[in-house]
Amino acid sequence: MSGSEMKYINEAFATNWIAPLGPNVDAFEKELASFVGINAAAAVSSGTAAIHLALQLLDVKKGDIVFCSSLTFVASANPILYQGAEPVFIDSEPETWNMSPLALEEAFKDAASANRLPKAVVIVNLYGQSAKMDELITICKNYNVPIIEDAAESLASMYKGKASGTFGDFGIYSFNGNKIITTSGGGMLISNNIEALQKARFIATQARDPAPHYQHSEIGYNYRMSNILAGIGRSQLEVLEERVKARRAIFDMYFQELYSIPGLSFMPELKNTFSNRWLTALTIDEEITGFSVNKLLAALDSENIEARPVWKPLHLQPLFDKNKYYSHNHNMSVSEELFQTGICLPSGSNMTLEDQMRVIECIKKALIG
Ligand SMILES: *Cc1c(COP(=O)(O)O)cnc(C)c1O
Repeated sequence: MSGSEMKYINEAFATNWIAPLGPNVDAFEKELASFVGINAAAAVSSGTAAIHLALQLLDVKKGDIVFCSSLTFVASANPILYQGAEPVFIDSEPETWNMSPLALEEAFKDAASANRLPKAVVIVNLYGQSAKMDELITICKNYNVPIIEDAAESLASMYKGKASGTFGDFGIYSFNGNKIITTSGGGMLISNNIEALQKARFIATQARDPAPHYQHSEIGYNYRMSNILAGIGRSQLEVLEERVKARRAIFDMYFQELYSIPGLSFMPELKNTFSNRWLTALTIDEEITGFSVNKLLAALDSENIEARPVWKPLHLQPLFDKNKYYSHNHNMSVSEELFQTGICLPSGSNMTLEDQMRVIECIKKALIG
């Protein structure tokens, strides 16, 4: 927490705005939209809800196809299932770990020749790193298919001077407890299309028609953010840049201390992009180091240090075992390789230098003795 949360929460109590909606919600939307440089933002109950709303605004329904990054958290794709649509998974490429333009082009070629283009493409920016947006946008424009940018992990990151999340027809952020800033739980849907976001707010409040009695002509959801949580969000936004600085400093320290160990490679930061470095991620070459991901995780765990493998690709999840997948090229599945070799290190912005040095010493002890 930043310290000024109680100011906003007390304000909500003093004015008796203990409700979904209220002045903090309106202000949080405006402040976030202005921070990332977009026309409009709608505060909702989670990042997942924001993706679900974006899919509905793009009319994704039963029988439709949606392309989606494979190397991501399941929340990127679950809302596709909520709509009864079919996700098709796209591999990563090595320079950003995000959606491969080569694999995307392959998927589009097949879809076009089957006369079954996707209704949308969900592009994820993993661990704070922007995907190759120029290349991906060019392909999607070519086929005239809209983009939902899943920037749940990349708030305050930049791609060629523009905020991550603002490149798609819709973008989403998450304020879940583990994200770079948090409202305990929450999310934001953003777009330059003000009308579409007005419609999103309508769907997110049970799709209540403008009538004095309760009248409903379409399906709605209870997806809005509460005025209390939006107050927390406003105060978190004040420290967002500080948090990014802290995460990047943590990355820099890991890099400086560990980059020279043969067999370790850190997640790259693509030229002309700025990553919030939400999590410090790296790969470990088992042949060179003699350490698998699991063995390194166990070594850390034995010293009470919690680290994690990178996301298990969605095309490998039992939930999606019947869904199609396009790899980066015919003999290289980048997301599978990253899953086998990738590890995320403790990266919390409140981690002390002392704690971080303990992690670093443990890795050094394991790998170089
Ligand atoms: C956290 C996350 C989400 C979901 O956000 P919630 O607010 O937890 O619903 C979606 N996509 C990615 C990539 C995430 O990391």
